[in-house]
Amino acid sequence: MEPIAKECIGDTNKEGNLQCGKCIAVCKMLANFKVTPKIHFTKILETNEVDPMLPYSCNMCYDCTRVCPKKLDLREAFQSIRKDLVKENAGSSPIKKHRGIEMHQRLSFSSLFNTTQEDKKANGSQIKPVRRVFMPGCSLPSYKPELVESILKHLQDKLPGTASVLKCCGKPTYLLGQEDLFHERYARLQDEFDATGADEVIVACQNCYNMVKEYSPNQKVVSLWSLLQEIGLPEASLGVGKGSNLTFAIHDSCPTRFVPEIHHGVRWIMTELGYNIEELEKSKENTTCCGMGGMVGAANFSLAKEVMTERTSQASSQHMVVYCASCRDAMLMGGKKALHILDLIFGETYTCSHFFPTKPYNPLINWKNRFKAKKYIEKVYNSNKRSDQHE
Ligand code: SF4
Ligand code: SF4
Repeated sequence: MEPIAKECIGDTNKEGNLQCGKCIAVCKMLANFKVTPKIHFTKILETNEVDPMLPYSCNMCYDCTRVCPKKLDLREAFQSIRKDLVKENAGSSPIKKHRGIEMHQRLSFSSLFNTTQEDKKANGSQIKPVRRVFMPGCSLPSYKPELVESILKHLQDKLPGTASVLKCCGKPTYLLGQEDLFHERYARLQDEFDATGADEVIVACQNCYNMVKEYSPNQKVVSLWSLLQEIGLPEASLGVGKGSNLTFAIHDSCPTRFVPEIHHGVRWIMTELGYNIEELEKSKENTTCCGMGGMVGAANFSLAKEVMTERTSQASSQHMVVYCASCRDAMLMGGKKALHILDLIFGETYTCSHFFPTKPYNPLINWKNRFKAKKYIEKVYNSNKRSDQHE
């Protein structure tokens, strides 16, 4: 916090005019709280008090740092306040509305929704040393377990021997500020990776990408979206969008704004599929948060909704394509028709006569889907085992 209080040049001058304020121009949250970071953080340091709604309203999107002439990291400062608040509150978030996320995280690490699978022959010896493990994450299995099964089969086809770990990366625990609990949970995920012997983790979620990159030194992280460019799409999907009368505006996920190979991969996929795309002015490195970042939806839903609506208003097309299932929910809540890119890869040709849901699923359906995803993954490996036995 000290560097921001000291180095931020955002202050009012003698005439009462705001100086700098570049971060406020790109951030609804800072604009809503109506004070510059310098004033916020100076006050917090002087009084040792903070309204918890302030740090828990940050989307952790890094857009402020991107535009800041001093490259000040507000995201990190708000995250460190979250950690302090949790320490002062006996390990829990001080925001009551976060109890649902705490429960979500307990379930996300429960054996009911987790599985680790390797390709093994009937006698238990491995076909070949496992080099890769696929990690679908949480939001994709909650959205459509069928897509998890389809992409896993494709990976198995192109990269035989790929193992799977269905477990959360713990990012929501981390974002609440529960640092010790996060490390304890991540260690369980790391044990699963290490047990497979994999040296590469293929992720379908951009939050998982960052967490694995930072906390799994034994493995290299690879995004599914850049990997597909290397291994190719399923034959049946090539050109599927050519007869479509839709244009999809691409929403890039903010956690990987600085990972250009993911942006290239997504555009390559859309070109191979043959769908028309709309590039938003704020895309790739300059993308904005969908509104779901930083778990803001739970603490400050009206702000999250403002961010969602702002984002969807930037697209001319009524249809958007995303590569994160949470971003898809946000685009729906912002009033657009939105699909996950895997819907386009494994679906029929989408046209304007298609039915597009207008609301995200309720949580019960999400949990049911996660359970189904576990079963579908196990089914893929069990059928591999059976076909080995017949050989
Ligand atoms: S952009 Fe940077 S220097 Fe300018 S007001 Fe924001 S934090 Fe301060
Ligand atoms: S990280 Fe994003 S939401 Fe948080 S202060 Fe910066 S721009 Fe605003």
